[in-house]
Amino acid sequence: MRLSRTHLKTLREAPADATLESHKLLVRANMIKQEAAGLYMFPKLGWRVVRKIEEIVREEMDYIDCQEIHMPHVNSADLWQETGRWYAYGPELWRIQDRSGNDFILNPTCEEMFTDFVRKEFSSYKELPFSLYQIQFKYRDEARPRYGLLRTREFIMKDAYSFDATEEDLHTAYMRQYHAYEKIFTRCGLDYRIVEADNGPIGGSKSHEFSALSDWGESDILYCNECGMAATVERAEFKDEAPVKEEMQELQEVFTPGTKTIEDVCAYLKLPTNRSIKALMFITYDDDLQPKDYVSVFIRGDRQLNMTKLVNALNIPEHHIEFADENEMGPATGIVGGFTGPVGLKNCVVVVDSELKDTVNMCAGANKEDHHLLGVCYGRDYTGDIVTDIKELQEGDPCPHCGKPVSFRRGIEVGQVFKLGLKYSESMNATFKDESGKDHPYWMGCYGIGVTRTMQAIAEQHHDDKGIIWPVAVAPYHVIVTVVKSADETQKALAYDIEEKLTRMGVEVMVDDRDERPGVKFNDADLIGIPVRITVGKLAGEGKVEYKLRRESELEVLTAEEAIAKAKALVDEEGDGRYLFKNLSEETMKSH
Ligand SMILES: [Zn+2]
Repeated sequence: MRLSRTHLKTLREAPADATLESHKLLVRANMIKQEAAGLYMFPKLGWRVVRKIEEIVREEMDYIDCQEIHMPHVNSADLWQETGRWYAYGPELWRIQDRSGNDFILNPTCEEMFTDFVRKEFSSYKELPFSLYQIQFKYRDEARPRYGLLRTREFIMKDAYSFDATEEDLHTAYMRQYHAYEKIFTRCGLDYRIVEADNGPIGGSKSHEFSALSDWGESDILYCNECGMAATVERAEFKDEAPVKEEMQELQEVFTPGTKTIEDVCAYLKLPTNRSIKALMFITYDDDLQPKDYVSVFIRGDRQLNMTKLVNALNIPEHHIEFADENEMGPATGIVGGFTGPVGLKNCVVVVDSELKDTVNMCAGANKEDHHLLGVCYGRDYTGDIVTDIKELQEGDPCPHCGKPVSFRRGIEVGQVFKLGLKYSESMNATFKDESGKDHPYWMGCYGIGVTRTMQAIAEQHHDDKGIIWPVAVAPYHVIVTVVKSADETQKALAYDIEEKLTRMGVEVMVDDRDERPGVKFNDADLIGIPVRITVGKLAGEGKVEYKLRRESELEVLTAEEAIAKAKALVDEEGDGRYLFKNLSEETMKSH
């Protein structure tokens, strides 16, 4: 491929709204280009990276006999109404209508469509187990698209679905995908962690997230170096501290003027914050988004609320809850903003964090302006309608498994695997017949990989101040041959000869034969991050070139033949990324 005949419009400046290095570099390298908010087009080099990642995904899916099919990008609303997700999914579901006013969606995920296909197309236990996947565009009507490919309204996703006869078989299918994901992200050159995750709007019972580590990331991971525990913040369990054993004291009202926060009141009363109760007020909405219930939430004063756990405890979708207006809520429920406590509330759902159960002599708001209560005891003075873990595990908190302090990292979520169980097969009546002709619902799993996200995560992990440093397995081309002086026929002839020879060996080569200054060409080569640069300059007459790896700073002078052999050897070694399998466990490698 010759750059003199190819469009490549690199930029000096990154877009003003770009904060992440990967976003800046992908735009500057002319690999992605935003057309409208959250909608990207991929110029040639960027699209080649996408295709490389897709190919790795395809190979590993094929290896575990997951079958590729292709569904429409648009789905009728009927199926989504059948499972209830039409209502539960929230405003990110991109709803459209056809000319007759029929409702459709642009797929954000395809559980319904695959389940529908399977209930129509499959029927017997003899066909089990099987799994299906596709790689296609998905849609999410993001309120604020940002961070380049990480928060877009259109993105490429690999979504797979497994169908099994039993829960044990589902586990086998789940682990097969899990291990395939390890191979995929390893081949892509990503440094990632596998963490226990919340199932979110997909539903189901068990889930793991594959998170590419980065300084920035919307996925917050807590992990324990001692025992290997790793979970997303949404999901991380919290081991309750045992309540202090004391005689119950009398309930006592104290004057605490102007102390609206836990810190204020505890400082004023000279109490540690872990002897206080923090209150948070919410309002929930029904499917038609009409107000439903007031919810009063109580946790220990030194803990933070975890919204995902609260939403799960209330068993409502995430967009069906928001902070309540305490002034509006006050008359009906008895709360007083800034001085709310759990004693004497009415007309609201009371959610109490499990750690407060059986605590005695705590300090809490008195539901009276400028007053708090001392001696508040669980059971005697208040109870919860729901009592469960709703607090967030934070850096330094004890590990829920071994008690050692947990560490914190950020990551970019690139894949997630879910055990769905019977959720979709039961709600959509997708069944198979066993040997005796009896119907059973399928045990299902679903498995996603964000292909375009993966592309950006790789760029986020592999770059320097000059540009991207693509791993060989996903690089748009393996080698760039830079002609220092394009007007020099000797240089050009040698460059084209190298191109010809490498191409015949299966090495992907681009030749920078543009009529540009050498500095521009070197900068572009560094920016777009091609793994090998062979520079053809004034030594061309002697058949010599400079050979340099993008990831290393030294360059060496070689004969053209030596440079060709060296590039070929590198591509043979690293071209498909499998050389990194040496980092994977035996169990992963055995999984087939
Ligand atoms: Zn631990």
